[in-house]
Amino acid sequence: MPKGKLTFDYEHCKGCGLCVTFCPVHILYQDKNAMNSQGYNLIRITDEDKCIACATCALMCPDSIITVEVRK
Ligand code: SF4
Ligand code: SF4
Repeated sequence: MPKGKLTFDYEHCKGCGLCVTFCPVHILYQDKNAMNSQGYNLIRITDEDKCIACATCALMCPDSIITVEVRK
């Protein structure tokens, strides 16, 4: 199973939570202790080793701010 590495363009996140909802392995969450300049909570990963690089989060993001790379 491939593993993924995520990067976020945090300043353009609008906190909709779709990436969190649709991640099939449930490793994304909204960090209540960190926000961007617009006041939206940053998306964090609980355990990147569990990311299967499916890119569902990136596809669901309405503003295309998530980049998923496959880790070697
Ligand atoms: S690439 Fe897939 S498994 Fe990894 S965080 Fe995004 S939705 Fe979850
Ligand atoms: S889907 Fe995109 S805009 Fe929505 S919370 Fe996730 S990263 Fe932010």
